[in-house]
Amino acid sequence: MKYISSRDKNHIVSFEDAVKRGLAPNKGLYMPQEYISMGNDFWANLFDMSLPEIGYQVGKKYVGDEIPDSDFKNLCNEVLNFDIPLVQVKDNVFSLELFHGPTCAFKDVGARFMARCLGYFSQKNNEKTVILVATSGDTGSAVARGFLNVPGVDVIILYPSGKVSEIQEKQLTTNGGNITALEVNGVFDDCQRLVKTAFANFDTKNRFHLTSANSINIARLIPQSFYYYYAVAQAKDYDTAICVPSGNFGNLTGGILAWKSGLQVNKFVAATNINDTVPNYLESGIYTPKPSKQTISNAMDVGDPSNFERLDIIFDHDSKKMHQTIEGYSFTDEQTRKKMQQVRDIYGYTLDPHGAVGFLGIEKYLASNPGIKGIFLETAHPAKFLDVVKESTGVTPDLPETLQECMKKSKKSIKIDNKYEDLAQILTEKYL
Ligand SMILES: *Cc1c(COP(=O)(O)O)cnc(C)c1O
Repeated sequence: MKYISSRDKNHIVSFEDAVKRGLAPNKGLYMPQEYISMGNDFWANLFDMSLPEIGYQVGKKYVGDEIPDSDFKNLCNEVLNFDIPLVQVKDNVFSLELFHGPTCAFKDVGARFMARCLGYFSQKNNEKTVILVATSGDTGSAVARGFLNVPGVDVIILYPSGKVSEIQEKQLTTNGGNITALEVNGVFDDCQRLVKTAFANFDTKNRFHLTSANSINIARLIPQSFYYYYAVAQAKDYDTAICVPSGNFGNLTGGILAWKSGLQVNKFVAATNINDTVPNYLESGIYTPKPSKQTISNAMDVGDPSNFERLDIIFDHDSKKMHQTIEGYSFTDEQTRKKMQQVRDIYGYTLDPHGAVGFLGIEKYLASNPGIKGIFLETAHPAKFLDVVKESTGVTPDLPETLQECMKKSKKSIKIDNKYEDLAQILTEKYL
């Protein structure tokens, strides 16, 4: 499989190059040059397949021979070593629990896959790769944790001092090994600026590659298609509606790639908070990006979703075509809180605010399409949004084991000032 830029179909690269570069020239996003198609054998066996088996069968169509089959099989077994169960919440509504990974959010799947692909290429070429990530909290921990102990790769995380929650800070600063946390005396934008300055100016003297682990990396997108097949396999039903709580729309784009490969579903439902750019587009046919507004489902506070560019290409720049496959709804914080409380009180299931938006979306769709099964993606463990969950439901969710363990460890960070020289000095000392 080759990869092309969303802004230039004549820019054609290998999987390895697409993963290493992250972003294509002109800020385009990498897309597979052709859509994969899964054969009859795959569909005949799908309902009995495990998640790592699905990952291997689907993933190797994207990776081709750039990672040998036996290595790729191991890679999938390692990446997908936690379950993504489909759990019934009420009669025809099911939760696809994507939060059983090491940082308790769905971004673990993409981060781990990308990490191991980059790790494979680093080792094969006998290179060292250093990943610089600026984080406001959550994404950084999934990325860092994904790379933990991956040979050939180091991660340096920059986070704003005092601006992340205690639990987030622990997740960023207790990894050890090949992960270094820099605590920046500034805000998130400062961290991002330092990283950008390093990419523009730091001379690695060719001793190592400096890269970002950007959320638009194709190696984060591809594995986000695996669990859609697995959801349908667990539902054992090819007429299921699947609702995806969405922000940058990478998760949903993964589902759409699965659908393009032949996965039959009744409909995809994109549920957003009041950052409703895509639901508006599906209704009006006009894409109007807006500044993001703050909500309780804050991982979805995105007014100009980066993956819209990919969806727009997949559906031939035709909103009506997109609307045939994707329904879009948006919900307020008040609706979200109410739903969290109701689902807790009536069904005894604790939603996190993002999953609650997904639940609202699937309920709304099923109201006008009765008689089918509905799945919503539960993208984070409720304990990650403790305060909102407690306020809305009166229940304090138990911390999952992986978070408990990390709360017990002590924080290790290097404090730096909000200036590029501090970051450059650390890079120099460590690697030159
Ligand atoms: C990132 C994130 C989302 C949104 O996913 P996108 O791929 O950006 O649409 C939803 N929920 C949680 C918990 C997230 O971390």
